[in-house]
Amino acid sequence: MIYDVIVIGAGPAGSTVSTFLAQNGHRVLLLEKSRFPREKLCGEFITPECLDIFERLNLRQRLFSAGAQLIDKWRLFTPDGHSIEVPLEWIANGHSHAICLTRARMDLILLERAREAGVEAREGFQVSPRFHAENDLKFIEGKADGETIERFSARIVIDASGRNSPFSTPAQQPDSRFKGSRLFGCKVFLRGVEGLDGSGELFFFRDGYGGICNVEGDRTNLCFLTTEETLRQARGDREKLLDLTMRSNPAARRRLKGSIIEGEWHGTGPIIYGRNRSTPGLLAIGDANAFIDPFTGSGILLALTSGELAAKVINESLAAGVNDLGAIAKRYNILHRARFGLRFQACALLRSLVFKPLARNALASLLARHHSLMKIITLSTRQQGGLFSE
Ligand SMILES: Cc1cc2nc3c(=O)[nH]c(=O)nc-3n(C[C@H](O)[C@H](O)[C@H](O)COP(=O)(O)OP(=O)(O)OC[C@H]3O[C@@H](n4cnc5c(N)ncnc54)[C@H](O)[C@@H]3O)c2cc1C
Repeated sequence: MIYDVIVIGAGPAGSTVSTFLAQNGHRVLLLEKSRFPREKLCGEFITPECLDIFERLNLRQRLFSAGAQLIDKWRLFTPDGHSIEVPLEWIANGHSHAICLTRARMDLILLERAREAGVEAREGFQVSPRFHAENDLKFIEGKADGETIERFSARIVIDASGRNSPFSTPAQQPDSRFKGSRLFGCKVFLRGVEGLDGSGELFFFRDGYGGICNVEGDRTNLCFLTTEETLRQARGDREKLLDLTMRSNPAARRRLKGSIIEGEWHGTGPIIYGRNRSTPGLLAIGDANAFIDPFTGSGILLALTSGELAAKVINESLAAGVNDLGAIAKRYNILHRARFGLRFQACALLRSLVFKPLARNALASLLARHHSLMKIITLSTRQQGGLFSE
């Protein structure tokens, strides 16, 4: 069977684009290597702007029924424990809060929604990096549960397979001279964290930062980024890793006191930011297209938005008789840069400050004194706009 669209990866980007395409009558095949529900390394903070897309997907109520926790502010703590408050109404788009929900739950709900819309979704199917195009058709192959090879074809193939996409390479490779400073992410769930009371907290420490927020099931997500060098110093001892990272911040040490770790640790890295170079003939969305700094909590938003945007461009192009993927990808990329170009630039600038102790401390003491500056910086990570206009 020839599909209209094949989507690789059922994260928020893949399931969203699939749902909006199927709702428009297209035959969509969604291929996902894991079986859901599955854990995902993520801070699991879902910005208020996402609620609008959940509304359009008709999912808002389902996410709340699944136990999504409401938060209405973030508290940021400098490495010496001073705090700065960021009310989420600054970025709330008319909502009064953000939500926190595990990716195991959220991604399953999005995948179920895609199936309801008529998407044929296959879990346990790993797409191989082999890809070729012939005339108007694109061919991909992969293995179902690691066993039999199967091949599929479609007019359009979308790569939504995330940061480690087999079809894309980072536009900028990390500099090998700074090997020990490459960043890695860790996530674990905690029980018994007291006093968060409707807020999320972000703690900066010597060579990284990490956040905590309550998720469903009376658990707290703890997720942080640190350097390869610090991981090496911890030598696989997780208590020592927490001492070197989160608990080196006095405010985090107080907050985490008495809490206990529940379940597995998850790790990922090295983290490479910015846009990727994609295989020609594929349309890349979500993290497979570009990765934004986790401290902005915008990754899920960008994944959902890019899924919705890609579906809009494809629906409009196919309706107008344009099925050349090159033209579709060009239009999508122009619109994506128009909407998010400035946001990526602002985040890159902030990142360069966050990892330089002198600049970070100067910025932190300025922000603690001038709340209006904090608002300007927060909004800069939410910029709409860029070098290209729609
Ligand atoms: C440390 C850290 C903390 C973060 N915290 C937050 C946060 O708090 N809030 C936030 O908004 N964002 C956060 N992010 C970013 C967020 O997790 C991502 O931006 C988001 O998951 C991107 O969604 P996606 O659909 O593009 O990709 P993914 O969610 O990565 O989904 C890709 C899917 O593709 C599947 N796949 C991969 N390869 C194949 C293959 N070959 N064949 C078939 N399937 C495949 C994977 O199994 C996966 O299910 C964080 C990221 C990191 C690294």
